Amino acid sequence: MTMSELAKLYEEMKGCQACRLRKTCRQVVTAVGNVENPALMIIGESPGESEDIAGEPFVGQAGQVLRAVLRETNIINRDNTLISNVIRCRPPANKFPTDECPSICVSRWLRREIGLAKPKRMLLMGNTPLEFVAGLTGITSARGKWLSVMGIRTMSTFHPSYILRKDREGDRGERARFEQDINEVAAEIKTQSPETTK
Ligand code: URA
Repeated sequence: MTMSELAKLYEEMKGCQACRLRKTCRQVVTAVGNVENPALMIIGESPGESEDIAGEPFVGQAGQVLRAVLRETNIINRDNTLISNVIRCRPPANKFPTDECPSICVSRWLRREIGLAKPKRMLLMGNTPLEFVAGLTGITSARGKWLSVMGIRTMSTFHPSYILRKDREGDRGERARFEQDINEVAAEIKTQSPETTK
């Protein structure tokens, strides 16, 4: 079997030295899930420590929050969804960089990844992918609305780390909105591509 273009992209990505972030992280965190025209591509911000160790996106605490909500839908799963990030190397102290690193990463990897995976829909989680993928700011007003990004139906919602913080503060309102957004995406997958949800 020949290697798919996307598999080649991930191999190339693992050797990336294009910015300073690779000097301080353990490994490049690529993506996980369905890479061939998935029903959904979920895009987060950057790997944290757990992801840096495991080499897989969303395996730490924020990942637990996300995966629990996805599981509850009974529709969004690893067979129909690709999970990725804006940047692939854990930034020092988990501080999202303000220099040129994210733009380099997005143009080198994320845009090409989206182009090759051809997801039917995307879900942007938090202000970072909202800015770097959709070119918009203000997740609070953007969330829960469908947009067209690179010709792909795209929803944005809060980042699961924010939901974790709000849970700790005892504020469940934002979690309810996060779940509502994900459930809306799931409902659309169920009606538009029921074959992917079997
Ligand atoms: N937060 C993210 O945005 N991405 C991850 O992979 C993990 C935590």
